[in-house]
Amino acid sequence: MRILLIATNTEIEPYPVFPLGMAVLASALLSSGHDVRQLDCLALGGDKEIIRSVCTEYRPQVIGFSLRNVDNVDSLTSHTHWALREVRELIAFIRSFCDAPLMMGGPGFSLMPEQILDYTGADFGIVGEGEEACRNVLEQLAQGQTPPRITKGTKRLQDKEMHGASPCPEIMDFYLRESGVASIQTKRGCPHTCIYCTYPALEGTKIRAREPGDVVDEIIRLKRDYSISELFFTDSVFNDGLGHWLALAEEMIRREVNISWSGFFQPIGITQDALRLCRRAGLKAMELGTDAASDATLQGLRKGFDFKTVEKINALCVEERIPCAHFIIFGGPGETELTVREGIENIGRLQHCVVCAFLGIRIYPNTALVRHAIEEGSLDPAASCLEPTYYFSPHIDPAKVETQLTQAFKGRRDRLFPPSKGQEQMAVMRKFGYRGILWDSLIRYPASNEKEPSIYACQA
Ligand code: SF4
Repeated sequence: MRILLIATNTEIEPYPVFPLGMAVLASALLSSGHDVRQLDCLALGGDKEIIRSVCTEYRPQVIGFSLRNVDNVDSLTSHTHWALREVRELIAFIRSFCDAPLMMGGPGFSLMPEQILDYTGADFGIVGEGEEACRNVLEQLAQGQTPPRITKGTKRLQDKEMHGASPCPEIMDFYLRESGVASIQTKRGCPHTCIYCTYPALEGTKIRAREPGDVVDEIIRLKRDYSISELFFTDSVFNDGLGHWLALAEEMIRREVNISWSGFFQPIGITQDALRLCRRAGLKAMELGTDAASDATLQGLRKGFDFKTVEKINALCVEERIPCAHFIIFGGPGETELTVREGIENIGRLQHCVVCAFLGIRIYPNTALVRHAIEEGSLDPAASCLEPTYYFSPHIDPAKVETQLTQAFKGRRDRLFPPSKGQEQMAVMRKFGYRGILWDSLIRYPASNEKEPSIYACQA
């Protein structure tokens, strides 16, 4: 069949992120003999007429929309970063000249599939990983059947069933120009149980890793075809407890891949040897899912580690000169006025790193957080979470915490709150031609002969 895939994301913060999910699905569909074209709303720069002319010329038999995020998960700005209105307008626009069935999928869609279909007016939806489910829907359409409104994959893909990406060259060129960062996923699934998180429901609780050799083949292909020099591993957690990350690092060293990379890490199970190995493999920086800043709130989020552990990994990163950024949410379950003060103090002890703070946790259906909020009486059981809906501990005044955080981070360019402050800094750097994840350049290390940390060199 002729399939047109459209990545709907237009969010550019923290930087424009290549639509990897669409390129992976394209790869799976191409390998099943389908004809696939890809478009990307961000790369199109809002020019919907290009979509019209592609539809007129290509005559797709199905159009698939990929929805990466519903909003930007920042309680202070998400009302202006809500993606669904634009997606609904896009679907109405395409309906006005094209009668191909319209199908939706992607991680954002999978959070609230029924509601998003109702709101956007698409015909069908794929929940979870799309490769197998999408092929099934296409088969039904090819046979003239009507697929169910929502289709879910019947199995979790393993090993070689998880395809690498088939990027559309124009789209890849756009993202490399804009952000300079390519993306690859090396595994799916997360065994952790963080209270707010949707990943385990979407990808499963068991780690399913691709062969290190296959991942390295893909990196080498991207280097050859697109001259990429920086890579982000999009795994929900790169440092899995089974050691797949270390096997990949070893394979990258063995095959002399020679590329800078970063990824999302949990601040547990990381040794000095592991960091050194990863650095030899090209590790440039680590984004740490620290998530809370006190033992009580780490427990409230069910993170499974304490703040001492966070301090240790931070010290290790400083010792190894590997830039790290801690993402920390204030206002979660267990937050009180006392834990806010304690959290700010604790953050003060994290030297030579970036801290990005958020206030309030975006609530999504089917998470432990929803159940917690309903039981606690802070969320109406009938509430729709389609529009930005945030959890704030009933024991804090969010406006007061916002002021406290703003004051605490004042004058520090390596302390980012509100989140929009960091985004503004990154936007300025991009304007001046800097490319990459960028936040790593906000960190200064003490000179090796310097005893006192020179963190104040980071002040704006
Ligand atoms: S927040 Fe990260 S570590 Fe926690 S469950 Fe989600 S993906 Fe796993």
